[in-house]
Amino acid sequence: MSNSVDGPLDGEFPVPDGVAPVVDRVREFIETEILPFERDNADYLGDPLSYLDGEGRLRPEVHELQSEIRRRAGEAGLYALHMPEDVGGGGLSQREHFYVQEEVFRYGTGHGSGLTRAMMAWTEGPAPPLLHLDEAQREEWLRPLVEGRETACICLTEPNAGSDLSGVETTARREGDEWVIDGHKRYITNAVYADTAQVLARTDEGEGVGSLALFLVDTDNPGYEVGQINRNIMMDGITADVHFEDCRVGTDQVVGEVGDGLPLALSWINWRRVCRPGMCVGLGRYLLRRMHDHALDREAFGDPIGRNQAVQWPIVDTLSELHATRKMAEATLAELDATTRLEALDQPPAATRRMSMLKYYPEDRLFDWADRAIQVLGGYGLMRAGGVERVFRVARNLRIPAGTTEIQKRTIARTLGLTGDGGGR
Ligand SMILES: Cc1cc2nc3c(=O)[nH]c(=O)nc-3n(C[C@H](O)[C@H](O)[C@H](O)COP(=O)(O)OP(=O)(O)OC[C@H]3O[C@@H](n4cnc5c(N)ncnc54)[C@H](O)[C@@H]3O)c2cc1C
Repeated sequence: MSNSVDGPLDGEFPVPDGVAPVVDRVREFIETEILPFERDNADYLGDPLSYLDGEGRLRPEVHELQSEIRRRAGEAGLYALHMPEDVGGGGLSQREHFYVQEEVFRYGTGHGSGLTRAMMAWTEGPAPPLLHLDEAQREEWLRPLVEGRETACICLTEPNAGSDLSGVETTARREGDEWVIDGHKRYITNAVYADTAQVLARTDEGEGVGSLALFLVDTDNPGYEVGQINRNIMMDGITADVHFEDCRVGTDQVVGEVGDGLPLALSWINWRRVCRPGMCVGLGRYLLRRMHDHALDREAFGDPIGRNQAVQWPIVDTLSELHATRKMAEATLAELDATTRLEALDQPPAATRRMSMLKYYPEDRLFDWADRAIQVLGGYGLMRAGGVERVFRVARNLRIPAGTTEIQKRTIARTLGLTGDGGGR
């Protein structure tokens, strides 16, 4: 398979003039700084059997490669393009950021523990809730993340609290100038390697969800302990349980106000939601190209397989659905840019509805596209070396974290006044 991501179908997906220069810089960075690394380390990046250790953790040398890409992207000013310029970010709108993500994911997932994604802030990166920090806090906690020098994790989910965060059982009790955190978090991406943990906990101030607060914890704190690795469908090697035991933090390690924990957590989740279309459309374009190439190259019964309608239609359907999804994302993100900011603690119902649509709809489409791509590629579609099976696994995963498909539909229904209740991600 060639390394080029260009194909005859790319003219179908134009990037607006205003964003094209930054998308070109991203692409140049990938071509010059990342693909050579991927090629040089292809032997062990391509297969979980070689990039994970016996416990299911990402091997330190692979993590170091990812960190190197992240740091270089930070130095090039490309890592945190979604964050405002006054905190050192690129100042892109959500709509503009869509095209950057599309470009990054157009390269697929690098056949395994790919390096391309590491150039762009993700779960481990700086997120909207941290805009609620004051100047001193920003300098200490936010700037290293924006510059890609350090990484974070977000600790919301627990064994007894997933979709329904009102069930969080982790506690934070006030003792003089400290908060003492105790609890057990689960499925925490980047728990293994994070420098900072953002932790949702129930305080002894306020009632119900009004008692929740978001804390910043240095993962060197002796009260932070990584538990079992959560071996998952993506085989990422960085998702784990976290135990907080007598974890003492200063009162200046609260994000915003005590009582703001749930809306802050939701602003983090909403950020992930609005990032989904760029990821799904980018990966969809990768799958479209792979299907198209294979339909022309692979022969059966004396002809390229693409001569058969049964092979043409999945490609045609994917192209049409990519157009529809991309147009929906462009229009909806532009509306969101005009009506709200992701860090807002109180979102208008129409904005909440749009963010949920932007999450579940592209994810469902990507799942269909990945399934079709495997079918068109035949046996090779299921091989690790092919790269497509990894996208299929990623696509299946996406429909759970940052709020399941069902929770998105429930949220949309709620904003339409159909459910008569509150709560749920
Ligand atoms: C790979 C991976 C990485 C993750 N990373 C993180 C992370 O970094 N930080 C973090 O905090 N969490 C993380 N999560 C956790 C993720 O956010 C939760 O798994 C998700 O929110 C769902 O919670 P749950 O698994 O407890 O499912 P549950 O809430 O138990 O739901 C189970 C099923 O019931 C359905 N359901 C529940 N309530 C309703 C309802 N009211 N109406 C209709 N259906 C309903 C759900 O849709 C789902 O199908 C990660 C998960 C995975 C798989």
